[in-house]
This record gives sequence, C-alpha cells and structure tokens, in this order.
Amino acid sequence: MKIDILTLFPEMCDAVLGESIIGRAIKAGYVEVNTHNIRDHAGNKHNRVDDAPYGGGKGMVMQAEPIFQCFKSLYTEGEPKPHLIYMSPKGKTFTQSDAVRLAEYDRIVLLCGHYEGVDQRVLDEIVDEEISVGDYVLTGGELPALTVADAVCRMIPGVLPEEVCFTEESHFDGLLEYPQYTRPEVWHGVPVPEVLLSGHHLNISKWREQKSLEITEKLRPDMLSKRSK
Ligand code: SAM
Repeated sequence: MKIDILTLFPEMCDAVLGESIIGRAIKAGYVEVNTHNIRDHAGNKHNRVDDAPYGGGKGMVMQAEPIFQCFKSLYTEGEPKPHLIYMSPKGKTFTQSDAVRLAEYDRIVLLCGHYEGVDQRVLDEIVDEEISVGDYVLTGGELPALTVADAVCRMIPGVLPEEVCFTEESHFDGLLEYPQYTRPEVWHGVPVPEVLLSGHHLNISKWREQKSLEITEKLRPDMLSKRSK
C-alpha cells in the first residue's frame, strides 16, 4: 500500500514516520509513505500558497491551485485518480472501522490544511472524503494525517507480528481491551490477577472477555448499546 501526505510541513510528518513500528514497516517495504510539500507547487517567486479570505475575516486561506497541482503531480494522465482524503474538523469522525476500510486501498492521499483552511473549490473538485480526528480544532492537518496513517498502517498484513495484535485490541470488535500486566508479579503490594498466572488458556480467555465487557460498560457504555443493535 502507498500513502501520500500533502502538507506545508513535510518535516513534521517525516520525523514521526521514521520512528517505531511504522518506521520499521516502511523500511521493510510493507507500506510506502511519501510526504509532498504543497509549497513546491506555489507557482510564484515568493512561494506563496495562501491569501486573505474573500468576504473578509481573520487569518489566511490555502489557495486552490498549489494543492491541485501537488495532487496532480502524484499520477499521470490515464492512471486512476488516487483516493483523496481531506483532514478536516468538519469531516466524519475517524474510527477503527475506517482504518480497516482504508487499509484495503492500494493507495490513499491525505491532504493537510492549515491556517483558516482550504479554498472550497479545490476540495469540491478533488476530495473523495473528509475525516476528522475529533470535535476540536487543531492548527493543521498533519497530526490528524499521521493519526490516520498510523492506524491504517497497523492494519496492513505483516506490519504487526500477528493479526491477534489488533483483533483483540480496543475498538476492533466494538469493545475496550481487558487490562494488561507484566513483570514483576507483585508491584507496590498489588499482585497480578491469579488467573493470568495459571497457564489455563480457556480460563484466561474467559477472564479477559469478562473484563473487556466490564471496562466497556464502565468507561464507554455507548459502545455496548451500539454493539447490541
Ligand atoms: N477554520 C476551520 C474550521 O473552523 O473548520 C479550521 C481550520 S484548522 C485551524 C486548519 C486545518 O487543520 C484544517 O484545514 C484541517 O486540515 C486541520 N484540522 C484541524 N482540526 C482538525 C480535526 N479535528 N480533524 C482533522 N483535521 C483537522
């Protein structure tokens, strides 16, 4: 799979993408992630990519043409248009099932806005879907794009050592994950639940399922009601 990130701040994305599990997945060739600087397509000697909003008001708006040219530079005439997602607080809230869905694409492109946002005309022309990472406003789309890229990469076969690494995790099956413990057996006087030391796989699995339900009921009862529908 290939992920392209269109941004005014590629270094911000590259720094994160080079690290940890995603960094290793890129190096191992499970996924290709490229960042593209929209400013390289400014088309003017001052490299300007934003201007004041029509109708007045605060801040600056990212201009349509540099974004359009940046996107067009990703594919040649005759090739299918890649699926373009605009990171936006107005979009649909991102969920685990979106991560699973997007991991099915051969290629996705993530467009990061900045300042007051992006000229609506280019969004209307090239964007396939808008995704939000939550009901709050960030200064730019880079952190949301990295969030989506990370969540999608984890769903690509081979990136995590085993499928169970994500199928048993919070949100995959509409539940939150059971509590996890590691060495030492007793910490600050608190022992690890006995069943986890028993080696009895069926009992451990039943305990985890029960804890998952209890935690979801306590922390996110809305998830349980959605699950029963
Ligand atoms: N003026 C816009 C509004 O009120 O909807 C907000 C613009 S925001 C300051 C700048 C950019 O950050 C947006 O174009 C978008 O790409 C990104 N962004 C901010 N919050 C986001 C969120 N919750 N989810 C996804 N992207 C977000």
